[in-house]
Amino acid sequence: MSEKIKLGCHLSSSRGFLHMGKEAVSIGADTFQFFTRNPRGSKAKEIDPKDVEAYLMYAQEHGIGTVVAHAPYTLNPCSKEEHTREFAEMTMADDLRRMEYIPGNLYNFHPGSHVGQGIDQGIELIAGMLNRILTPEQHTTVLLETMSGKGSEVGSRFEELAEIIRRTRCKEQLGVCLDTCHVYDAGYDIVNHLDEVVEEFDRVIGLDRLKAVHVNDSKNPFASHKDRHEKIGEGSLGLEALRRVVHHPKLSHLPFCLETPNELPGYAREIELLRNI
Ligand code: FE
Ligand code: FE
Ligand code: ZN
Repeated sequence: MSEKIKLGCHLSSSRGFLHMGKEAVSIGADTFQFFTRNPRGSKAKEIDPKDVEAYLMYAQEHGIGTVVAHAPYTLNPCSKEEHTREFAEMTMADDLRRMEYIPGNLYNFHPGSHVGQGIDQGIELIAGMLNRILTPEQHTTVLLETMSGKGSEVGSRFEELAEIIRRTRCKEQLGVCLDTCHVYDAGYDIVNHLDEVVEEFDRVIGLDRLKAVHVNDSKNPFASHKDRHEKIGEGSLGLEALRRVVHHPKLSHLPFCLETPNELPGYAREIELLRNI
């Protein structure tokens, strides 16, 4: 009998950790994702140690495993503007300090957009930031998210993520989060060639680096470089393709988080749909 698949969704963090834990359990989730602060990147609320303590107990009792924090998506570590890069670095460093309240979890971010400076300069700036803020002592694994390649986004090719990792010193603290909508929009055909894409990921990045998966359908066709999430089964990937991802023998041990346009009842339904074949 294989382990139960860890499925969850994106939840609002505005009412604290314990509240997220209870919401997760109420929809049959055993993991979840949350923004570390307002997604547009404002100041973070202070962490309440009592809330964290209550959450950690609750999580243990209810089998909530690894959770994923998501950086604000306005952060751009490879912007042309120095103050924008500094803001990204400051925010991420602060988020990682706060993540130490819940050691052993994941922190996902969008590598950024090079805005005309070129992919290589983008990669250099991202690795530079990671080299200044990652430490061997931290208890959080930082994840680079696979992107759709919208505009000048870095990270829509596995090679680009591999190169960021290659240029970063604290590799132990670094991993990748695969987003199904993003990779499909980027031109990796996980609908018709999932095994080949998984093999390619392994060859280019290494499957040991893959720490989480975002499960989303896509509003746009294959290789559209668009990045608009759709409800499970209502987009171009379809329910069967996403089920195959979740139950794939080389992926099924990972935490899977939905980022579909849903409220809690919709998430509960999608978790149920994906869990059962
Ligand atoms: Fe994301
Ligand atoms: Fe995502
Ligand atoms: Zn997206």
